[in-house]
Amino acid sequence: MQCPKCKIDHAHRSHRSGLVERLGSLIGYYPYRCRECGHRFLQFRYASPPEGPGKHLEAEREIKSTRLRIRWQRKKRIVLLYGFSALLFLGFLYYITRPGTFSGN
Ligand SMILES: [Zn+2]
Repeated sequence: MQCPKCKIDHAHRSHRSGLVERLGSLIGYYPYRCRECGHRFLQFRYASPPEGPGKHLEAEREIKSTRLRIRWQRKKRIVLLYGFSALLFLGFLYYITRPGTFSGN
């Protein structure tokens, strides 16, 4: 993070202190402190990084799509598991509601 005062890329996230910084963090502004000059400032956390689009972005996109794929596979497994247990449950219901099972005759 670049310091707005000395323009040196040496500012780091600082601890929130005071009402303004607490409220600021709610809308995305976080306190930063420059290690060069000690200047404190609020910075929007989702500000785009200074580096331009390039290979970095492409790799990020690939990672994101891979993550999505893995998440989808996981979801599919969960759906299958739920479907299977629902079938088991239905089978169990059918078994216990079948006439003659618990009629005690
Ligand atoms: Zn500074």
